[in-house]
Amino acid sequence: MRIITIGSGILGLSVALNLARKGASVELIDSQETLGRTSETSYAWTNASGKLDPNYHQLNVAGMEEHRVLHREFGMESSYTESGGLFIADAAQESGLRERLLQLEQHQYPFRLVNAHEAEELSGITPRENAALIAYFPKEGYVLPKKLMHNLRIAAETAGVQVTPGVVRSIADHFTSVSVELMDGQVIHADRVVLAAGRWSKSLALTAGIDLPMHDEVAKGSATIGVLGYALAPQLNLRAVVHEPTINLRPSAPGQVVVQALDLNPQADPASATTAGDPIGVELQNRFIDLTGIKPERFELRLSARSLPADGMPIVGSAHAGSNVYTLVSHSGVTLGPLLGKLAAAEILEGTESDLLSPYRIGRFEDGSRSFEAHIPTRIGEQ
Ligand SMILES: Cc1cc2nc3c(=O)[nH]c(=O)nc-3n(C[C@H](O)[C@H](O)[C@H](O)COP(=O)(O)OP(=O)(O)OC[C@H]3O[C@@H](n4cnc5c(N)ncnc54)[C@H](O)[C@@H]3O)c2cc1C
Repeated sequence: MRIITIGSGILGLSVALNLARKGASVELIDSQETLGRTSETSYAWTNASGKLDPNYHQLNVAGMEEHRVLHREFGMESSYTESGGLFIADAAQESGLRERLLQLEQHQYPFRLVNAHEAEELSGITPRENAALIAYFPKEGYVLPKKLMHNLRIAAETAGVQVTPGVVRSIADHFTSVSVELMDGQVIHADRVVLAAGRWSKSLALTAGIDLPMHDEVAKGSATIGVLGYALAPQLNLRAVVHEPTINLRPSAPGQVVVQALDLNPQADPASATTAGDPIGVELQNRFIDLTGIKPERFELRLSARSLPADGMPIVGSAHAGSNVYTLVSHSGVTLGPLLGKLAAAEILEGTESDLLSPYRIGRFEDGSRSFEAHIPTRIGEQ
């Protein structure tokens, strides 16, 4: 089968790799140089502790397992670290955390309560005096997203994926085949198209007459916007992903820490250049210094935009019965991308419907019962 994959973020690379390994002839259309990728600027925490819906929780746990599979495959080159994750709650967050842990117990999700001393040993961060309850999630971790994508791309090309630089203008489904037209006028034909173009997927789907329910507005205050700080602080030996009341931290390249504060996202304006000297950058740095006692040697602010299905859950599968367009879009795509790529490839080539994917078909939006209201991500796990 000849398959075109549109998009070379974590989702597109993962599905292209799995399709090629299963024997398909895959052309990956890649506009990374022109449009960028959400996957490059991601907090990149592999997690399920904030995802309590049973189906979604199970999907994310399976997504975390797939990172272990890739870790074994990539060996020394792997970008995955199962560092564990800490959630430090103050008095205001304590009952919410206790409630969450009760539900996680029902899901048999591994965690344990730790004291401040253990938290420091595990993470390198000394919890503030107001810490009321600290939970440790040993199976959580993080990836270095650029390195993961590099590894996926090399593996995909080795498996035979042909990478074509270009921007897709439109998709045309001819029912016995499908074609895409690039901005330079080139038309490429195939048996199936996998639409994995992240936050650009909604507008591309429309060219094929598909209404893909996603939030794709990128403006100040929109739910898609997320800001990350990259702090160079070699004195801080951060060893785990840490969430505490004012700031979230994850280890990055040697000496570097990625910092995030979800409550600051609505202040970020994608229309103007975002620099570390902006109020949001200053506030993020101050929170970092306040917690760690360390002034970063360098601090950079980067703005990113989520690929956000309307109800926050993945949309995976054929656009409608008989369609040659398979949609593959998801938030939490770092945790889920490698797994979704593998499951999608099996569905496309073997026709086997995955139970894990069945709650995430586009058809769930048809009865109008789902809220399309944009929800600004503020809770842990929504990142
Ligand atoms: C601030 C922030 C923090 C996050 N934190 C986490 C986290 O901790 N854990 C987690 O699991 N997830 C997290 N996410 C979500 C995760 O990063 C995304 O879900 C994931 O990166 C999406 O990957 P993707 O491959 O779908 O999209 P992308 O990486 O955006 O890739 C889409 C690709 O499609 C290409 N493309 C678009 N249009 C066209 C076209 N017309 N023609 C050709 N190519 C095209 C683009 O150039 C790009 O290469 C976070 C996201 C943000 C913004």
